[in-house]
Amino acid sequence: MKEASLRGNNYIRYVLFTRKKDMEGRLYMKKIISLLIVLTIIVGILPVAFAGKNYEATTVELVDYTTKSSKTYAKINMVMGGDELVTKDVPGILYVDGNVARAMVPVNFITSKLGGEMSFDWSTMEATLQYKTKRVVLKMDSSIAYVNGVAHQLPDNVPPKLLAFDGTYRALVPVRFLEDTFGLEIFWENNTRTVYINKPQQDLQSISYDWTAKFQEVRFKTTGEVDASHYFVEGSSIGGKDKIVLELQNVKFDIDPMLVNEQGLYVDDVGGFEIAKIQAFQSDTQPYKIRVDVDLNMKKEYDVWYDYRTGELVLQLINSVWEIGTEDIYSAKTVVIETGEEPAYNVTPLSNKVIVDVINSKLRKNDGRSGILFPDGSEINAINYMQFSPSGEYEPDDVITRVVITLGTNVSTDDVYVEAIDDKIYVYVSGNPLDGFNYAKQDIDWASLGINLNVASTYTTNYNSTTREMTLKIPKTAIALDNLDIDIDDNIVDLITIDKQSSARDYVIKFVLSKGTEVFDQTESKKTDALSFTFLNNDLKNSIYRGRLIVIDPGHGGKDPGAHGDNITEAEINLIAAKELKKKLEGLGFNVYMTRESNKYVGLYNRPQIANDLNAEAFISIHANAATNKAATGIENLYYPEAGYSLKRELAREIQKKLIAYTGAVDRGIVERPNLVVTRETKMPSVIVEMGFLTNAEEEARLMNPAYMDSITNGIRDGLLQILK
Ligand SMILES: [Zn+2]
Repeated sequence: MKEASLRGNNYIRYVLFTRKKDMEGRLYMKKIISLLIVLTIIVGILPVAFAGKNYEATTVELVDYTTKSSKTYAKINMVMGGDELVTKDVPGILYVDGNVARAMVPVNFITSKLGGEMSFDWSTMEATLQYKTKRVVLKMDSSIAYVNGVAHQLPDNVPPKLLAFDGTYRALVPVRFLEDTFGLEIFWENNTRTVYINKPQQDLQSISYDWTAKFQEVRFKTTGEVDASHYFVEGSSIGGKDKIVLELQNVKFDIDPMLVNEQGLYVDDVGGFEIAKIQAFQSDTQPYKIRVDVDLNMKKEYDVWYDYRTGELVLQLINSVWEIGTEDIYSAKTVVIETGEEPAYNVTPLSNKVIVDVINSKLRKNDGRSGILFPDGSEINAINYMQFSPSGEYEPDDVITRVVITLGTNVSTDDVYVEAIDDKIYVYVSGNPLDGFNYAKQDIDWASLGINLNVASTYTTNYNSTTREMTLKIPKTAIALDNLDIDIDDNIVDLITIDKQSSARDYVIKFVLSKGTEVFDQTESKKTDALSFTFLNNDLKNSIYRGRLIVIDPGHGGKDPGAHGDNITEAEINLIAAKELKKKLEGLGFNVYMTRESNKYVGLYNRPQIANDLNAEAFISIHANAATNKAATGIENLYYPEAGYSLKRELAREIQKKLIAYTGAVDRGIVERPNLVVTRETKMPSVIVEMGFLTNAEEEARLMNPAYMDSITNGIRDGLLQILK
């Protein structure tokens, strides 16, 4: 781990330590107050017809405000500027009237995404949209709309409709109307039932890399304003390279042919400190898309925006602060600051406050607005956070996120200890956990441990091969530790316990090794101030699965919670299952990449792209089901139908078989689903596992039971193994 550029402060230390964040335990305990929703829909059909689910549902039942009747509509996907629009209630639909099928979209989402405004007048049943110079009045059920006071006939005379899902009404209009009125470009993709809503088509004229900028930038010169979707591939986590991928939407490739190779690829080997290489090409023509790969030399957070002043889309490398919160870690009340790369930061103690400045970072929590948190307990009175305007101590163009921790009366700044692990900053407000103790998993099959002592001391080790326990004794005079159980549980070391009672002279530190692990003492001398051990799991090293890559995709996340149970959201239960499955697959020697590791939003189209980019051997998307009929239960696997013998179908079949055998759940079988994006777009065997129905109280309770979840993840693992030879 490199030292980041820090301004002198001996308060700051870097310690590398992998910790098992007990996500499972924590989430199982978490009670989420269920949404009090008034059901106005009488349950009609049994299967998955629930708009709260983003993309697995094919149909949705909506109530027409005017007729009060309920009807089932085919759902459509809406992609705007490259991002799919996620609605928590009324989705986009195919509205069929006689022989005419029209894509209709909830107009409020589109308007707000464009930066416009919408209001609704219930007395006149009129929606008024204001966007740039256009004022549009849409009367529900009337095929005449007024644009700046002038009457316009709606396409095919399909009128706007006020439709409700679960009691929430939304005004829907034919998407073609938006095209004509707001100057948008619409593209309909029939096989995924997706409507693409884009700004007018532009050309990409040149790409430049500005290494003189304070923050490294790649600039894309275009003929007009463009949108881009983007995602990060953390290849370094599985032994490859990190990269940022951008997709410029509705943009034609018009770069000087001299700069483009025979394959139509623009390549710039910039060889910078942070950016290694930039590549771009026309990846699609319907609608036009340009794909840009920016290869990095290190994990970097970034921001993307359009610079109206220069007419360029800008990719800027700059850190972000995504989340600030508190956790209890090793009995220490800890403030956790979550950033997007290895952070540079300053710590300043100031009477009863500790100020943590995350240098060159944009505040993303709370949409960049200042905020204050009041954690439980007496250790911390308050946590203030803000985007800080630099003064004296910083450069004027520095971008600082400032976190001010006001301590409780029983705590002083001397009790505070700060360290960064990967992309997070931990501020331990009481206690000094594991100072000098550095455990790090280095690869799928080995880990290292360094222990730094205050004075050179004599230590002893003892290994018991029956219990797979190594006992290490270190004099108490050499280091300050507390009684502690550390659940490492990384398939190399199961557990480390520190015991300071049982011996008067020594700490007794026990390491319980995972099955197959050997420990090597690499300390140079028996009297030393620097102990060094290596743990190697030979079972993993020699596994036939060693280094083979599986992508696990925990469905939904962030702004898209997916289905709701009474106690947990789909996004949460999917992540719990995914993390457990990851651990089990790593326990067999696989490399595992997760499309998300936290409650973050990842674009629907980006999920399969990540698996394709990484050339994974299989892609497993984990979901939980929902139905308006609360009695619906059981497990199903969804797959994309391919002609002939298909590993996609085999994967679904094998996982379904194992899951039913291990759980005894209702067998809903495997289901062909040609228009699901993730299974369709993945080039490798892929499946969507629907683990059970969160809308059924009993099945939700089962899914939240760790023993049942263990059967689920065993079933997915063993089903997967059937198709991997
Ligand atoms: Zn889902």
